[in-house]
Amino acid sequence: MTKKGRVFSGARPTGRQHLGNYLGAIQNYVALQEDYDCVYCIVDVHALTTVETTQELRQNTVEMALDWLAAGIRPEDSILFVQSHIPQVLELHAYLSMVTQFGKLTDLPTFKEKVRQQPENVNYGLLGYPVLMTADIVLYKTDIVPVGIDQAPHLEFAREIVRSFNYRYNTKVLIEPQVKHTEIKKVVGLDGKDKMSKSLNNHIELAATPEETTARVREMVTDPARMRRTDPGNPDVCNVYTMHKIFSSPEEVDMVNVECRRAGIGCVDCKKLLAANLNTHLQPFRARRAEFASKPEYITEVLNDGARRARVIAEKTMEEVREAIQLP
Ligand code: SF4
Repeated sequence: MTKKGRVFSGARPTGRQHLGNYLGAIQNYVALQEDYDCVYCIVDVHALTTVETTQELRQNTVEMALDWLAAGIRPEDSILFVQSHIPQVLELHAYLSMVTQFGKLTDLPTFKEKVRQQPENVNYGLLGYPVLMTADIVLYKTDIVPVGIDQAPHLEFAREIVRSFNYRYNTKVLIEPQVKHTEIKKVVGLDGKDKMSKSLNNHIELAATPEETTARVREMVTDPARMRRTDPGNPDVCNVYTMHKIFSSPEEVDMVNVECRRAGIGCVDCKKLLAANLNTHLQPFRARRAEFASKPEYITEVLNDGARRARVIAEKTMEEVREAIQLP
């Protein structure tokens, strides 16, 4: 079947993925494979801008690849690889940095935010992050980048860099990527307040055991106004109910909605039901993950093969880029 174009997306090697990653991004990655040539990159170089130690970088990369594959990324269709395995991206980053104005980079809200977050480590790579991101995208002649509405300005900046490059060297070799607006679901963590994240420890790992998952669900914050079992609750302000809407049957969702409001079901039972449904939903994923994890050489092969295929596209683009710049 003819595909509609090439999609690129990258994510930092954050190790084992959680439900928030799954519902927010991975599910979408899997679905896009039906219509697009997909290039999915584990962006380890980007990670260096913020990590203090690289001890876990390799293991985190493997864990993430395992989760992506178990979730349904098909390496025979899509290209799955590690950013640093393709040094051409660093070369392109250097050339793109020559057409990117310093003041524009320092003005970016994301850069200012990082300066606030890590004032002790405002490194050069942090400033050049959007340029490296642009290099990632355009190196693979990407047509489309799936982004949530809040990330759209980043892509607009990438498009600007491409226009500057093409204008400076009077060429059309680099393609301006188009945005594919995607509804990136914000999954709230166990605290019922913040976005699910590993650093806040309010997450549920996809690869957790059923027992661990049940224990984590038990920790979930519910309707804070429901103090006693006999108090009626309000599912509309409860994250357990939000999760039921994703993982439980319509009948169960209706039941929780009705029974919670009249104190017909307690939070303990409500959570037990959610944990059971979550474990049922994740069971096939976990079985696939365990199978892949038992063959570490398979992951190495997938990433090496992905890098080999990515390198072919990258080197072709770089030949055109060097020619356009008229490098001697
Ligand atoms: S019964 Fe369920 S939906 Fe209602 S407050 Fe408790 S956990 Fe939330």
